[in-house]
Amino acid sequence: MTKILFMNSGGMDSLVGMKKLIMDGHEVHYLYLDYGQISNQRARIAVEIIANKLNIPPQNRNIIKIDFSESVIDTLEHDYLPVNPFIVVGSGRATAYLQHLMRVIGGSFAYKINAQILAGGFRVSNNIVDTVVTSFYNKITGIYENIQFYSPLQGLNREGVKNLALELGLTVQDLRETVSCMALADRACGTCLKCRERAELGIEETIIL
Ligand SMILES: [Zn+2]
Repeated sequence: MTKILFMNSGGMDSLVGMKKLIMDGHEVHYLYLDYGQISNQRARIAVEIIANKLNIPPQNRNIIKIDFSESVIDTLEHDYLPVNPFIVVGSGRATAYLQHLMRVIGGSFAYKINAQILAGGFRVSNNIVDTVVTSFYNKITGIYENIQFYSPLQGLNREGVKNLALELGLTVQDLRETVSCMALADRACGTCLKCRERAELGIEETIIL
């Protein structure tokens, strides 16, 4: 059994990815980042539902709130974030940097809880994840050398993820109780790319505020 930290977004890929890792016999912890995303309220509900569904022990559920309106430095000053904060300050809202920031925090947290693997719902190949993430980490610090990066969903498209979910014993209803839509609304918008992709597969979101 390997201790794995999974970057849980409350999305369908997070549900299926963590389910796969648990069924493979791993000890799964998760980290949800509240960085002010407009879907945060609905995503938080999904995260809770997913955790309960997968019987993830309370002590393995982690949530960090990052307040960009103050300063990222405050967040980065925690003892589990031994990284150089200037990398992200000032560019925190740019998507690329935000993704890096999440990985930095994920990597730091994995280090803190002594997880050997940092996992996520990336569907690109592990090679790409490995190359991108590792090269970034190597630039900022050497502390992540002992943490591997892994995606249980590599190479799958959304339909592939749905099929894997059903193979693993999850149901269509389970998949519907996750959040992909990023719209500022009390429910999924039904028109964005993610909503349309999900509609095609019959897994429209059900979480409503
Ligand atoms: Zn939408």
